[in-house]
Amino acid sequence: MKNILVTGGLGFIGSHTVVELCKNDYHVVIIDNLSNSSIDVLDKLKKITKKEIAFYEDDVCNKEALKKIFKKEKIDAVIHFAGFKAVGESVEKPLKYYRNNLDSTISLLEVMDEYACFNLIFSSSATVYGKPKSLPIKEDFPLSTTNPYGTTKLFIEHILEDLYTSNNKWNITILRYFNPIGADKSGLIGENPKDIPNNLMPYILKVVTKELPVLRIFGDDYDTVDGTGVRDYIHVSDLAYGHVLALKNKKEGLKIYNLGTGHGTSVLELVKTFEKVNNVKVNKEITKRRPGDIDACFASCDKAFKELGFKAKYDVEEMCLDAYNFIKKNTN
Ligand code: NAD
Ligand code: UDP
Repeated sequence: MKNILVTGGLGFIGSHTVVELCKNDYHVVIIDNLSNSSIDVLDKLKKITKKEIAFYEDDVCNKEALKKIFKKEKIDAVIHFAGFKAVGESVEKPLKYYRNNLDSTISLLEVMDEYACFNLIFSSSATVYGKPKSLPIKEDFPLSTTNPYGTTKLFIEHILEDLYTSNNKWNITILRYFNPIGADKSGLIGENPKDIPNNLMPYILKVVTKELPVLRIFGDDYDTVDGTGVRDYIHVSDLAYGHVLALKNKKEGLKIYNLGTGHGTSVLELVKTFEKVNNVKVNKEITKRRPGDIDACFASCDKAFKELGFKAKYDVEEMCLDAYNFIKKNTN
């Protein structure tokens, strides 16, 4: 497998995955409609990788656009990142999420089928575990969702299972990401949302750059080490490398893996680490719980380690350093 189509390849996780793919001598073809990314990322990717990267500014829901790519590029495998991901917005505008996330996936699968490309890696999320019955979370835990965004991920997982049952030629890997943060060591690419961020790390970055006044910590009365929510933060470059391992996996069929570190970190622990390694203060206040949040969530990474050889190499300190390095290089 040499030619990899990366949908949403200019986004946060997609762009870091393109870096890892290029490092491992894959030829990358990107399709992205720039709905949540900027064309500048393409130049930065070329600068980091020093490789040719084919780019199509198109919508993955557009089958004709996809067919043109498959005709021209001889795609061996697809990594499907394209989709909307803001939990809060998905509650307000569920149809926008069902339309984009499901339509793009079904269009892509139909065109892959037509061009006999049966290798797919799909970006799922730990959100499909809902409120886990125990920790760490294993891949065979019961699945449920609490918002339309999560439901699109779960529906797509079901679609992929049905597709595989219908035709065992499909070779599908579902990766359930935990909480990717950090940025490429170059500081050229990272996560810098245009709107007010939902997620913790981009919010911290907007507070330290004074674009937002204060980090609101959503609750300090959870059943955790210090009362604040615990999550499994993983460096985005480690997560990105997980996709290379998934491409190289010899095991065929439909496979599901958690990609996390296996360690939980509380909000306060993350903020304190950020302050310490970057020598900055994060203005913060404790507020009430955010509806739908759970106490704690971290992965069992045993299956990804055993079958893919996946093990995250960066710790939370490195994640905080790299996230701040990116924002310092990309804000005035
Ligand atoms: P992102 O928004 O930074 O990247 C998604 C990219 O897809 C963007 O560049 C956007 O322009 C593009 N896109 C969206 N819809 C498209 C369409 N119809 N056609 C073409 N391009 C389209 O998001 P991300 O953080 O890089 O996430 C990538 C994937 O991983 C998403 O599917 C997301 O749901 C999933 N995921 C993300 C996280 C996270 O915390 N970031 C966690 C779990 C799962
Ligand atoms: N969080 C917070 N303030 C924020 C954003 C997030 O206190 O502005 C907390 C949130 O309650 C959770 C943790 O940080 O405990 C991670 O939240 P995020 O939205 O990044 O990830 P998710 O909850 O989707 O795993």
